[in-house]
Amino acid sequence: MSPKPVVHVHITVLAQESHLTFGCDEWGGIEHCENEIANVSAHDSATHALTVQHSGHYWSVDTSPGTRATLDYALAPTRPNAMANESDRFYPVVTDRYLHFIGHTALLAPRESKEHTTPEREIELVWRGFREAGWNVACSFGTESELHVRRSYERFVHSVFVAGDYEIHRTDNAEAPIILVMRPGAWKFGATDFLSTAVPVVSEERKLFRDRATPLVIVASPMLVDADVIDGTMLSDSIDLFLPRAGRLIPNPLLALLLSHEYFHNWDTLVMRPSEDEGAGIMWFTEGFAEFYMRRVAYRAGRISRNDYLFYLNRALLAYAKSPSNREPNERIRSDFWKSPDVNRLPYNRGQIVALVIDAQLRAAGGALTLDDFVRRLADDARSTNVGVTSESVLKKLGEMTSAAFEAQIRRIVIDGELAIVPPNALAPCALLKGSDVPMFEFAPDGQSACAATL
Ligand SMILES: [Zn+2]
Repeated sequence: MSPKPVVHVHITVLAQESHLTFGCDEWGGIEHCENEIANVSAHDSATHALTVQHSGHYWSVDTSPGTRATLDYALAPTRPNAMANESDRFYPVVTDRYLHFIGHTALLAPRESKEHTTPEREIELVWRGFREAGWNVACSFGTESELHVRRSYERFVHSVFVAGDYEIHRTDNAEAPIILVMRPGAWKFGATDFLSTAVPVVSEERKLFRDRATPLVIVASPMLVDADVIDGTMLSDSIDLFLPRAGRLIPNPLLALLLSHEYFHNWDTLVMRPSEDEGAGIMWFTEGFAEFYMRRVAYRAGRISRNDYLFYLNRALLAYAKSPSNREPNERIRSDFWKSPDVNRLPYNRGQIVALVIDAQLRAAGGALTLDDFVRRLADDARSTNVGVTSESVLKKLGEMTSAAFEAQIRRIVIDGELAIVPPNALAPCALLKGSDVPMFEFAPDGQSACAATL
């Protein structure tokens, strides 16, 4: 038997004060991230030991200003088969074949203040011993053994790090530069099949935001369970994806919808930086609009059919209409998002119906504006003002692009919990809303040639 693998982490910073604090985050359902960290010690550049004090998920080090201080520790996963269980999937994994962790939980980033954001700075990342052992390495910022990035600490740890038997594939497509990092042999599809979905989706989403962002790293790992788990999360410059394990075909159109949804968060979350103070109160926008655009982007990318589009939209209409909490105010989503499964789904369903209503309103005004212009302006504003979005700022921008009356109508839905009414011609001339109990979209006679411009 080979010895149990160990990953040592060394974090060196230039101390500004006589006291440094490092910490991990309870992120992605992980409780007690400190349990994943072992043998913490610290030293200065002359290798003199520094005193470390530990409390919860913080470690503090006494040093002196101007000193280069290094924190050393080992990753000690408490659930080495974390990917065997959906709720455990973000725990660090260290096995003799591969390594997978999220920066939040496994990289003890310096804590400078109680502020949510710290300034961008140069960060150097060096992987040692992995290539020598025949392991590939990759993270959200690239696949080199040594790399330099300019990020805030928050954005640096909002990232995925993998090594081992992951295969690395690159597209040479200027519209969709992707670095695909996937574990081999687990699926009945290969990188080529995977990229035949990912490339058009990524290209369409960039077109939507007219953004030539940095290459997108997609890490794909098999869940070690037999369930049809397909799930992902948008991180800095990367999507960390979990797919069903061996013996299954690529789950299209689910993969196209998932990638479209997650990559939308690159703009509605990472660029627009919703205020953390609002918590789940902004999710009608961040999650709801991602749900709306998962269909639109996947359809424009040619990865779902117009039948799929209406099928998934009608399913959302039905879920919204049947939800016992569909008239709950936004305040209830803030307080009970993590407590009630139905409240948890509400911002996704309410938000995507609201997105549809806004798109219809903008189109009906006849000024050639659509929801695309709205989300693009929000992204451009966030970039130029450096101010993150709130529910109020999104509504205000909507009022500027439509009218005070329409802004008030949408506010009553997303803030007060009034039921959204979809105009029957919201997708005309492609499809029309039909039926009385829960109206559903049906293709209009002779309307299908108009779908490409409408959906
Ligand atoms: Zn999402």
